[in-house]
Amino acid sequence: MADGTVKQMNPFTGTQVWTVPGRGNRPIDHPPGAVAAVDPGEPEAHCAFCVSRLRETTPEKSRLVRDGDAWTVVDEVAPDDLDRTVPEFRLFGNLFEMVSLDYWKAVHGYRIPARAAAHQSAYLAGEAGVEHVRALVRARIAAAQGDPAGVDSMSTDELAARSQSFFGGCHDVVVARRHLTDGATSTDRHASSGSLTPEEHERFISFTVRAMRGLYGDNPHARYVSVFQNWLRPAGASFAHLHKQLVAIDEIPVKTGRELAALAGEPGRYNTLGVDHAAAEGLVLAANAHAVAVVGVGHRYPSLVVYSRSAASEPWQHSPDELRGVSDLLHACHAATGPLVPTNEEWHTRPPGVDAAMPWRIVLKWRISNPAGFEGATGVYVNTIDPWALRDRVAPRLAELRAAGRIADMALGTECDDVRGSLRYR
Ligand SMILES: [Zn+2]
Repeated sequence: MADGTVKQMNPFTGTQVWTVPGRGNRPIDHPPGAVAAVDPGEPEAHCAFCVSRLRETTPEKSRLVRDGDAWTVVDEVAPDDLDRTVPEFRLFGNLFEMVSLDYWKAVHGYRIPARAAAHQSAYLAGEAGVEHVRALVRARIAAAQGDPAGVDSMSTDELAARSQSFFGGCHDVVVARRHLTDGATSTDRHASSGSLTPEEHERFISFTVRAMRGLYGDNPHARYVSVFQNWLRPAGASFAHLHKQLVAIDEIPVKTGRELAALAGEPGRYNTLGVDHAAAEGLVLAANAHAVAVVGVGHRYPSLVVYSRSAASEPWQHSPDELRGVSDLLHACHAATGPLVPTNEEWHTRPPGVDAAMPWRIVLKWRISNPAGFEGATGVYVNTIDPWALRDRVAPRLAELRAAGRIADMALGTECDDVRGSLRYR
């Protein structure tokens, strides 16, 4: 508009967004709050996701262990093995599930997988496992304002009945090892996705993809598994400790259903409305052989979007190189965003049973504003950074990070080949 206001509409969803001039240069970092000194030699114990507090989370469904260049998955970790290795990433059930195991049982007659049941039996066969489970049952009752007094005298059978979701629930968490960056001497040096090495980030992604596939495999009633990462409190994170979540649900979300309907009439839309549109508007940030990163248009919050170029729709059908390609661009977007910006990382994937090809894409949203009454009343979202301003913030950071070797090698901005039509999902 004449005064510099940018009115956008999301080409996929129709979401209306206005960017008002003069507000884009406000600081966007989330203030860290009270900062305390930290002894970098001490084991981390800042929150319930930290490695010295492994028994404050539910028993591990899996962990990923590193020995030099070798990465090994350990499944159904035994209570006596928790301290035997250092987990780089851990997979476990959310103590406070969004969609509970009781829901799956009551509505769908779901039963936890035999593997999970065996893990539970083995766990409750020894003192260490019983006490771990007892403490979690107590914590959950206390959090629900219940009286945890009876937990101390609960039999193993009672504990088993109350802890099935720890082993076989359908809302999982993947937690990274570090709370703070290596060598940090103060509590505000949070280890974010961007502070991982590109290799660590790829392991984080592939470990999460494996867990996603596992949820689909374990729960035949799961119509969709939502994968997301909330970073910092304004983005919905309970702890400032890097983690992703996976939530199985029994419906294809309405918004995904709309996308599927539109896809039927316009199978090439992720190319035309996604990367082609970004190329036409000068919004391509980075590319490698397997993925493209662009600035998104018409999102409720300033957003970076990574599109997989793979022919495969499912993340677990990506080759290791393709997975690494997607991971590298996502990692670079996180690193360029910086650890102080609250973000949501949202995966968009094809629901099972859908024939139409759909690329895996990941949206990284900067949660720097708070939609309020105006947005609710009008459905028009007011944003402080327009897509080109976002590009101009992110592009120089990407160049610096690449020069410093902090992100993987990739083509940036105008170095990218013509990306139009380059998504191979069709
Ligand atoms: Zn922590």
